[in-house]
Amino acid sequence: MSDEPYTVIQHLHCPVCNKAIPPDEDYCGEECKEIYERRMKKKRFISNLFNMVGIFIIILLVLSFVGA
Ligand SMILES: [Zn+2]
Repeated sequence: MSDEPYTVIQHLHCPVCNKAIPPDEDYCGEECKEIYERRMKKKRFISNLFNMVGIFIIILLVLSFVGA
């Protein structure tokens, strides 16, 4: 349990600049939204790349076992 008082108004933080924002908002403004989306796109691209490399390695392993 934290000792934060219950009177603290529910709020979120902007995932980009960490500014407090109302709970029905995702970002503090359009600028941060764009930055965040750009970041997520990059992240998704990198994780897709890793997935593909992983699948490729598994295929190579399977092929080398089958071929042996
Ligand atoms: Zn922000």
